[in-house]
Amino acid sequence: MNNSEFDIAIIGAGLAGLTAGLTAARLGRSVLIVTGDILGGHLLSVEKVEGYPGFPEGIPGYKLCPMTQVQAADAGAEISMANVEALEPMNGLWRIETNVESHTAGAVILATGTRFRHLGVPGEELFFGKGVSQCASCDAPLLRDKKAVVIGGGDSAAQEALTLAPHVSHLTVLVRGDTLQAQAHYQDRLHADGKVEIRYNTEVEEILGEDGVTGVRICDTASGVTTELDTEAAFIFIGLQPNAEFLDGIVPLTKSGHIPTDDRMRTARPGLFAAGSVRADNAGQAVAAAGDGASAALAAHAYLEEGSP
Ligand code: NDP
Repeated sequence: MNNSEFDIAIIGAGLAGLTAGLTAARLGRSVLIVTGDILGGHLLSVEKVEGYPGFPEGIPGYKLCPMTQVQAADAGAEISMANVEALEPMNGLWRIETNVESHTAGAVILATGTRFRHLGVPGEELFFGKGVSQCASCDAPLLRDKKAVVIGGGDSAAQEALTLAPHVSHLTVLVRGDTLQAQAHYQDRLHADGKVEIRYNTEVEEILGEDGVTGVRICDTASGVTTELDTEAAFIFIGLQPNAEFLDGIVPLTKSGHIPTDDRMRTARPGLFAAGSVRADNAGQAVAAAGDGASAALAAHAYLEEGSP
């Protein structure tokens, strides 16, 4: 098993982690980015990242992330595809144990991101990959002229619904409350799309099917009436779950499982920083993830300059 020492190790290679790596390497630091088997994180499946400076027409996440990865690597950041199994303080450094090798670093930036939450209703797990999905850009081409539903009312649900709408014959967005929470820009486009129907006060009780999804059982929470809605696909976007469980006991987490930091991305533990959507109070936009990454790298650099305890 290899042992190597870096100034700054970054756990996670989404936009926050890659930008942290880019920034830290440009500051002259030796940088390791450790990530599981996917480089690019959540945004990789996003058809169009909008509102990101420099790309007025939007840019696919599967282009933006690899571009940032190349930029970080060109700046000198090393990338290791491995699963982090342990993180612990050791003689003023941090020791990172992966399933492949172990490393030490003077500072660590946690940029492990989030994953989509699950609904927890019957049929969801059974039909996952057989009509139940959490990636519109992956599955939209398979749904040409078929019906689909999107469950959720935030930015993810709206963004993914807009990716699906051009492909399907009809799209129903099932919203639990009586309003959408998505940005006005997304709401306007959903309301203007003739193929999109939005149903409010609607809870999904079950995903129905045989070999694949054939419908959803929904409850109108205003009337209490339960009905079945025909659909060949159900896309679930009901919020994000931080990937921070492995940090329990290492750094305090909020009730929702996010990592609290100050405005310089410093956690409660010296030498440990957090960036991107795993961080409490992150603004949840791609540009904010990149900004967090850059800020965390600058703070980690300053911490090393000051001399870690
Ligand atoms: P959010 O937490 O913002 O929204 C979750 C949505 O799912 C809410 O409408 C919520 O409704 C609903 N919901 C939660 N639980 C259930 C349930 N059990 N059944 C039905 N509906 C449920 O998550 P998102 O993934 O949409 O967004 C996460 C972050 O990422 C946000 O900060 C967002 O702004 C950001 N983002 C930004 C984008 C952009 O800028 N282009 C694109 C995508 C995401 P309720 O209010 O009833 O709980």
